[in-house]
Amino acid sequence: MLDYFCPISHSVPILESPIEFLKGVGPQRGELLRQELQISTLEDLLYHYPYRYFDRTKLTKINEINSQTEYVQIAGTLVNIYEEGTGRGKRLVATIYDDTGRIELLWFQGAQWMKKSLRENERYIVFGKVSLFNGLFNISHPEIELVNAENSAGGMQPVYSTTEKLRIKGITNRSFAKLTQALFERISSEDVPEVLPEGMLREYKLLSRYYALRWLHFPDTEEHERMARYRMKWEELFVSQLMIARLRLQHVAQQGWPFERVSDNFNNFFKLHLPFELTNAQKRVLREIRQDTGLGKQMNRLLQGDVGSGKTIVAVMSMLLALDNGFQACIMAPTEILAQQHYFSISELLSDMGIAVRLLTGAVKGKLRKEILEELADGTAQIAVGTHALIEESVQFKNLGLAVIDEQHRFGVGQRARLWKKNDLPPHVLVMTATPIPRTLAMTMYGDLEVSVIDELPPGRKEIKTVHRKDNTRANVMEFVRKEVGSGRQAYIVYPLIEESEKMDYESLMAGYEQVKIWFDENKYKIAMVHGRQKADERERNMQRFVKGEADVLVATTVIEVGVNVPNASVMVIESAERFGLSQMHQLRGRVGRGADQSYCVLLTGNKLSEESYKRIQIMVSTTDGFKIAEEDLAMRGPGDMYGTKQSGEMKFKLADIVMDSAILEETRKAAQQLLAIDPKLSMVQHQGIKNMLAQQGRQSHWGKIS
Ligand code: ADP
Ligand code: MG
Repeated sequence: MLDYFCPISHSVPILESPIEFLKGVGPQRGELLRQELQISTLEDLLYHYPYRYFDRTKLTKINEINSQTEYVQIAGTLVNIYEEGTGRGKRLVATIYDDTGRIELLWFQGAQWMKKSLRENERYIVFGKVSLFNGLFNISHPEIELVNAENSAGGMQPVYSTTEKLRIKGITNRSFAKLTQALFERISSEDVPEVLPEGMLREYKLLSRYYALRWLHFPDTEEHERMARYRMKWEELFVSQLMIARLRLQHVAQQGWPFERVSDNFNNFFKLHLPFELTNAQKRVLREIRQDTGLGKQMNRLLQGDVGSGKTIVAVMSMLLALDNGFQACIMAPTEILAQQHYFSISELLSDMGIAVRLLTGAVKGKLRKEILEELADGTAQIAVGTHALIEESVQFKNLGLAVIDEQHRFGVGQRARLWKKNDLPPHVLVMTATPIPRTLAMTMYGDLEVSVIDELPPGRKEIKTVHRKDNTRANVMEFVRKEVGSGRQAYIVYPLIEESEKMDYESLMAGYEQVKIWFDENKYKIAMVHGRQKADERERNMQRFVKGEADVLVATTVIEVGVNVPNASVMVIESAERFGLSQMHQLRGRVGRGADQSYCVLLTGNKLSEESYKRIQIMVSTTDGFKIAEEDLAMRGPGDMYGTKQSGEMKFKLADIVMDSAILEETRKAAQQLLAIDPKLSMVQHQGIKNMLAQQGRQSHWGKIS
């Protein structure tokens, strides 16, 4: 999906003209820019922002470089350019000196081309990351630029991202600056009309759009650059918050099925079949759901609760509420295994109540599938449990009243939308997520939903003890696991399986399995294994052996990550833990500690760890609070990586960062709400700029379809 939060102004002829018409471009370069950076119009170039600036006033003297130095910008004379090594080891070496010292520059790629373009005894400005090799500092692949009248003039020179191919064809950072300059010679403030109303600019102290863009490319001072960046970030976040706020208004206005009654299904279950007392948090959330579904409006609710907080029972009881009102209900899980597990546990919970629960996944085929589809269509099937298979076109419900989506982050937003088609009115939607969502992320991803929180674990849970152990103490770890298993507990041993190196990972999983068989006497202990390469039924058979307690140890890949519930399991060993992300480890750890017994999580890593892996492991050891972990995760990885949102591009901002810019995010959220309170349809004349901008974004983003 396109990065649809990038600002796009409404139709302005000159900016729409093809890039080749710009001075200095022409057909050939135009084609290259199109291919390499998707720059095909002047407008695209306008939004190709510099990622940093050469500030002539900020130079480091070479003798100031020390082991703490990270990036430097130095000016000096280039000498001693030569190639070294052969074949793949070939590299280009050059030395730059100023009046305080000298430092080597290195190129391992594109050496040939660099060699041709560099000139000895000329003055250059160099920017790059300093590293230490054999006791000497050097800079690999620096940005390097000849000092000339143009760029020694002071001020901040923009530096643009370009590609290897463009560089080789002579479109360097510098050429970009020239092109952008040519662009600004062609356009004036009239070509970049303001989209935000006067009042807003004043209230939030925002630069006009034209100056913001101009200063983003060519700031005179750092202050200008900061102001320009602020304005454009503000706009990006404002647009996203406005879209979300509008979606929310749409939801609020959406008619829904009123669940007016609470009757036999719900009441009997509550009185006769509930296996435990609900926590106060669970009761509160159920009340919220009952209120919400009773109003004749469509419910769009997010249920947030840490792993093990007991979301499933809330889902089940909400579905009973739907049944009590004459509707069908469904629950969707992200994986086959999880769907099957939900199916078994829900069937069991409801076994004495004569409710027709059906499982529909991709693995359900042939005659059985046909039967189930018929039962869903004629209403015989009351509760459907399944995967994405449930939202396929071919699946027709008689009258779907409630759809529960478990572990939502694996479901695309667009998929949520498809539920609309399953009834005359859209069903109520309850999205459940185990990963606590940092507030800023919630505001951008789920800002359109009402939120319920289960902030209380079922009673009697003991905090999971988490330790970090290195490979060389594996024997002790296994000894410990054997003791736990010997006393009747069960254990998980999880291996990473990451697609790029699937084959290697697969082999290490198998090797691990063989080892585990040796550690655990096969005659005494039963070991099961599940992984993604098994056929669904084989995987399911093995999983069930563990669920039923027939297997003591489950060797697995992350296919078990989400939602699997085996309360008797008390040990989670994560192999190569350094390769897992924080939220993934937290999910895995959540598989234990589900009963009343003390549980353990062992993070096994190699002996040497990168700083970042070490930090992740330390966070895991220091807290079991999913919310804290999610915050740390967001801070360490950035939102783009989290929750699989990368693919869906839901949060792609060009400049804004929802962690760093959370203050702007809060401000724009309020501004968006205020704006819609005054002018919900954006019909006022001063809001036309915003309206047009939203229309453009909406076309690109398919947001209109989101439920
Ligand atoms: P999650 O929120 O991670 O989906 P589950 O719904 O799988 O959590 O519940 C985790 C475990 O806690 C299950 O074994 C469930 O039966 C149990 N459980 C849920 N609610 C309660 C409660 N109120 N009291 C005791 N145990 C509970
Ligand atoms: Mg769950």
